[in-house]
Amino acid sequence: MTARILDGNKIAADIRSEVAAEVKALSAAGLRPGLAVVLVGHNPASEIYVRGKVKSSEEVGLYSEKHTPPETSSTDELLALVSDLNRRDEVDGILVQLPLPSHVDSKRILLAVDPAKDVDGFHPMNVGFLSTQRPGLVPCTPNGVMEILRRSNIPIAGQEAVVVGRSDIVGKPMAMLLLNANATVTVCHSKTRGLPEVCRRADILVAAIGKAGMVTPDFVKPGATVIDVGMNRVTERSEFDKYFKGNEKREQGFAKNGSTLMGDVDPAVSAIAGALTPVPGGVGPLTIAMLMANTVRAAKLRRGSAVLV
Ligand code: NAP
Repeated sequence: MTARILDGNKIAADIRSEVAAEVKALSAAGLRPGLAVVLVGHNPASEIYVRGKVKSSEEVGLYSEKHTPPETSSTDELLALVSDLNRRDEVDGILVQLPLPSHVDSKRILLAVDPAKDVDGFHPMNVGFLSTQRPGLVPCTPNGVMEILRRSNIPIAGQEAVVVGRSDIVGKPMAMLLLNANATVTVCHSKTRGLPEVCRRADILVAAIGKAGMVTPDFVKPGATVIDVGMNRVTERSEFDKYFKGNEKREQGFAKNGSTLMGDVDPAVSAIAGALTPVPGGVGPLTIAMLMANTVRAAKLRRGSAVLV
């Protein structure tokens, strides 16, 4: 058996076009949703992520603005910027790109973001809304995983779901979303005993670990849906050969860039899983698409149901 590949690029494109239609309707009513992105200093990876977010915002028709305070900015200066964005009505979503410089109190900055504009869904108020099933803003990556499952017609209610990883941004909200959708959820982490055995219970297995190829076929029940959230850069030739020897497309990319992107799931899992998200092209594209969707949702929630379209 070869797993069905769940095409995140296609699902993300569908969501972006739905968002674009909503943005058009809201804009026609004089309520163009707006996203403000804050990028502090010059972290190269963050610069790439922010570029992608701003480009995508423009493509779906959102109003967008980028703030680039210097690396030396103090916590108080950033708090003043956040407070200004909180106050401005044309800004519906505020995204503070992490990580912030080490001298900045990141928790204070994230707490200062108005929960109604917290399009990352990281504010404790939104965490509480999610766990009590109230309307709020949900973290983009796990929310994107739910879209992949739903739009691929993968049953969730009553299914055994195992989430490996318990971070605040992926693992925990992922588990909560699956629980809210009536799955029976187990959350695993680095102290879990007998991890492969626990994972083999899963009808839906979500890997959000950050370790290349850690989920091997012995973790997977035949026919299970495997969602690979991991994004790991493989730079060692020996590791590359272990997973991708003979894969021409990967070989070309590796020769050109000196690295290849891979998930937490060993590609050999495709012989046993029923469905699998690839890396790249699986969960990754959903994260930005859901940020766009969250900005529209924030705009609508902030203004009440009167403008729901
Ligand atoms: P994280 O904060 O480092 O959390 C990793 C989790 O994995 C922790 O809960 C950790 O357990 C667990 N873990 C580590 N080693 C383990 C092991 N040997 N056995 C079992 N569990 C283990 O990472 P994250 O931010 O959640 O991200 C996870 C992965 O997703 C990364 O590769 C990241 O790049 C990727 N990611 C992708 C997207 C996307 O858009 N596709 C978005 C966000 C993140 P403990 O809690 O016990 O330490």
